Amino acid sequence: MEVVSGVYQIEVPFPGGKGRYTNVYVLEGQDGHVLIDSGWGDLEAFSALREGLTREHLKFKDIKRIVITHIHPDHYGLAGRVKEFCGAEMVMHRLSAELIPSRYIATGELLEQVEEELSRNGVPMSELQGMRREALSLEQFVSPCLPDTVLDGGDSFSNGLFNFEAIHTPGHSPDHLCLYEPGRQFLFSGDHILPDSVPHVGLHPQSGDNPLGDYLASLQAVGSLKVKFVFPGHGSVFNGLNLRVEEIGRAHEQRKRDVLNTVRNDLKTAYQIAAELFWNDDCGEVAFRNLACWGKRMAVQESMAYLSLLVREDKVGAIEKKGVPLYLSKE
Ligand SMILES: [Zn+2]
Ligand SMILES: [Zn+2]
Repeated sequence: MEVVSGVYQIEVPFPGGKGRYTNVYVLEGQDGHVLIDSGWGDLEAFSALREGLTREHLKFKDIKRIVITHIHPDHYGLAGRVKEFCGAEMVMHRLSAELIPSRYIATGELLEQVEEELSRNGVPMSELQGMRREALSLEQFVSPCLPDTVLDGGDSFSNGLFNFEAIHTPGHSPDHLCLYEPGRQFLFSGDHILPDSVPHVGLHPQSGDNPLGDYLASLQAVGSLKVKFVFPGHGSVFNGLNLRVEEIGRAHEQRKRDVLNTVRNDLKTAYQIAAELFWNDDCGEVAFRNLACWGKRMAVQESMAYLSLLVREDKVGAIEKKGVPLYLSKE
């Protein structure tokens, strides 16, 4: 649907029909349309994108730029196929180009690093195997494609109608970009700001050492912008960015307290900490033991991100016992 003049939102479904969608945006312009994100890389997603374009009387051949907010499969997966189809210029953050080869082309080394890190943080072997299987199954949903043009934070581009400023917002993903249209006060927020959930931030080999610290700094960076409408990667277009930034900030403060409470009395691994907390999945709030393998992996990596920040803030101490990091509250 045309959510505001010249901006179309097409809902591209998640694999398996879970009723979840990635928002793909098409922005009309005299110098060709801009596609923001692509959705998952499977045929169902491609059909949904094609049908969405047809419904709005938009044509693939008019898409001249595909801009990717970050390289998660639900945003980047279909990009390679769309490019093949319409020959558009592929645009992403400079870091995306560095991360794609190890994440989607020659993946063995990164998978090993992830497993080693999870194992070191207490994840039992039986669960690691399930996590590996699910990680490998994700590869079928990405048709990898390197950028033709890379952006850094502060770069700008235009399609004759919309003028964009790229804002580097690391945290949810180290390469995450938000796109700001200052004249209209539009923010295309990808997964950095979502209306209905707190974006996942996890520590892993590609995340940098303090992804939650990065995320909170990025949250403040977009919170200071003048924005009338936020166009998120999932959920409905909304206004009231400042309020949402505050809500997300408060949710992280609460979660930091929850993590801290798990290590008040005993030294624990990140896995043990994650296992004591409740987590959100498609069914709402669930105990760790009821999460699927992928959800458990994200929960452990998210706990590690909180712990990394809490250690930096000197609220939690970390010691290593036989190579395994153990955490204890300093408060
Ligand atoms: Zn994402
Ligand atoms: Zn997403």
